[in-house]
Amino acid sequence: MDSAHLATWHLAHKTRPAKIVLPKDVEEVVAAVRDPKNHPSPLIAVGAMHSVTRCVEADAGTVVCMAGFNRVIGMAGATDSPCQVVRVEAGVTLAVLHAWLLALQRELSFSPEIGDATVGGLVTTMCKDSSVRGPGHLCALVEALTYVDHEGNVVGLSRQEDEVALEHYMCSYCTQGITLDAMLRCRPACLVRTRVRALPTGDGARLAERILRMRAQCDNMWAVITLHGCCLEQRWQLPGRALHRQSPRLLLEVFRRVRYQTFLVPHTPAYILLGARLPLPGLVHHRSLLVNSYPAVTAEQSRLDFSYYEYPDIGRFAEVVEGVLQFARDHKDATGFAPAGFALYFVRRGGARARMHAGAYSGGEGWSFVLDPTCGQPTDPRWLEFCRAFTPWALAHGARTSPTQTKELLPGQYALDSRYVRARFLTPYFAQFVTELKQGAETPAFDTLPKT
Ligand SMILES: Cc1cc2nc3c(=O)[nH]c(=O)nc-3n(C[C@H](O)[C@H](O)[C@H](O)COP(=O)(O)OP(=O)(O)OC[C@H]3O[C@@H](n4cnc5c(N)ncnc54)[C@H](O)[C@@H]3O)c2cc1C
Repeated sequence: MDSAHLATWHLAHKTRPAKIVLPKDVEEVVAAVRDPKNHPSPLIAVGAMHSVTRCVEADAGTVVCMAGFNRVIGMAGATDSPCQVVRVEAGVTLAVLHAWLLALQRELSFSPEIGDATVGGLVTTMCKDSSVRGPGHLCALVEALTYVDHEGNVVGLSRQEDEVALEHYMCSYCTQGITLDAMLRCRPACLVRTRVRALPTGDGARLAERILRMRAQCDNMWAVITLHGCCLEQRWQLPGRALHRQSPRLLLEVFRRVRYQTFLVPHTPAYILLGARLPLPGLVHHRSLLVNSYPAVTAEQSRLDFSYYEYPDIGRFAEVVEGVLQFARDHKDATGFAPAGFALYFVRRGGARARMHAGAYSGGEGWSFVLDPTCGQPTDPRWLEFCRAFTPWALAHGARTSPTQTKELLPGQYALDSRYVRARFLTPYFAQFVTELKQGAETPAFDTLPKT
């Protein structure tokens, strides 16, 4: 297909490539990569286009839509093994994969609320989930993958045989190749208990202290913090499936929908109220039952936008929560605008990436926290101005950013290692971050969360 506009789900970013390709098989991906005359550079792949930054821009280049790569290929490994893997094509969405696995009583530890994102759009970028007993970012679960490189070769990498090359590929932010499929570590499905609590936001230092205390009582926690109120979800993994019964489907569905509204129209009061109303002892469910799929939206509708900041040093939690709230209040006093709230994740770092080098989820096995400001109007200039003003503050407080999830990033605010990058796949957006990183630029190990 020649020249058409493509837009991200939330309609904030558009691109007009010279060529759009919808490959049905590997040969068609290879043919496109090997033919720069008819498929001009930069050539990029896209999944569901649910990114929130300019990462999907390839103006005058080529966009390869991976929607046709939508098969879950199957399981490998003994069924009684805790380390089974599922092989899945890059265009499969998380919602489809979760449902497929649950039918076999399996699951991924990574189960964020978004169901539309594809495996290909997540394994070489970064992501976050307040996972329960397992890594909270998808690349930590990758045992092997296949991709098409800049010369059109189909390359296979596995953790067992090429760990360093695999990790470099997964840190490349899609500038090294087109991912075709991945093998992801999964585990027996388990039930979790989710308990929702509402707190007044009040003083930042006191709020941070209460959050950490509540975090220590459970396996993990996710929260939404607004300038006025805070809603926290405590999550426990329940041992022995047979001992627990899942909450009624209707109740789970009502909860999912109220929660979904809070993502579509960030942080509706209904969600915070729900926290005050849900009865003890909470809901019992598989995590994937609370995953959402987002239908198409119009530019007039409110729809979630966010800007990502990972803090790998959990010791700075109180300082950051207090500072972020103060920053938002000061910004509101000065401009009249404040974000709808902040989404808080505790992400368990895992896999070789945690040990390897500077970048997202490095710094050793342990816990990072992610605190993302959110807004319901992705194109509101006041929101974008907030993001531009906030990023330097966050970086000064130890945050790391991501070119696929942090809004309005400038050169110098993210470093993409020049060793990963191939010109065929490099767009002007990503090119502004390419940096020659010095050998030995590894990040120090960070403390982990105390566990009860
Ligand atoms: C409402 C909403 C809620 C969200 N909630 C969360 C959340 O809780 N946790 C979280 O982590 N994220 C969340 N996100 C962000 C989203 O999960 C990520 O941006 C994700 O990368 C989107 O996946 P995608 O398939 O749409 O990728 P796309 O937007 O299509 O692409 C993302 C990047 O990956 C590249 N790419 C895509 N496919 C391939 C491939 N096969 N090979 C090589 N490169 C490829 C693209 O070129 C692009 O650079 C949310 C987003 C929205 C809109």
